[in-house]
Amino acid sequence: MAETQIIKGVVLSSCDYKEKDKLVEIFSLELGKITAVIKSCKAPNAKLKFAFQSFCFAEFSVIKNGKFYQIIDAKQIDSFFDLTLDLSTYYLSSLVLELTSISIDLEEQNPQLFLLLLNTLKHICYDNMPVHLVTAKFCQDILTMLGYKVDYSKCVSCGTQYLGKIFLNLDTGAFVCNNCETETSLQISVQAFSLLKIINQTSYDRLGTIKIADSVAREAILVVCKNIEYRLLKVVRSAKFI
Ligand SMILES: [Zn+2]
Repeated sequence: MAETQIIKGVVLSSCDYKEKDKLVEIFSLELGKITAVIKSCKAPNAKLKFAFQSFCFAEFSVIKNGKFYQIIDAKQIDSFFDLTLDLSTYYLSSLVLELTSISIDLEEQNPQLFLLLLNTLKHICYDNMPVHLVTAKFCQDILTMLGYKVDYSKCVSCGTQYLGKIFLNLDTGAFVCNNCETETSLQISVQAFSLLKIINQTSYDRLGTIKIADSVAREAILVVCKNIEYRLLKVVRSAKFI
């Protein structure tokens, strides 16, 4: 019998598995991202019914069981339940979970990302911060963590200051000017670009001082998500719901 390990983690997603079980993806401090089975947890009175809900932050007791881990017990630390009360907040927070998931490989430990995820969920859930802006900054932080530093000061191709339209070159992940636009460029509005530039220089606790329409923030988030998709060659499925 494998040894029981106690890990602290956040549920990123879950799906049905066999008749009575759930398969959950957990991002933990100790083991990184893992896939784990929770047996017989779907009944209304099941003891671990809470432990497969997205956002659930808990102390999980796990054992390695062949290919998967199995969760044999869990103590909830925080359900982040309020993230699910408002549809817009729910979708943006779900995007945060998905971006976390696609940015790391299975069993890759990343304490820095773990802290970033927990703090981001707390900012949205409890700190009354603007959820679109927190999400946009989280997207930027993910890109930085993946090793892509974005220059907002001038066109990366020709070095001139931006005057007209601005584009994201999806091949390189850099912003370029009108003259340097290529076939695989995505136009970004000047407002959304300026917002990304400002957010990049603003700490999370100061995001509340930025006054901007949600639609502009939404565009900024989608552009950074598109950049992440091209850098990782993965699809960000929840982006279409925000
Ligand atoms: Zn240029």
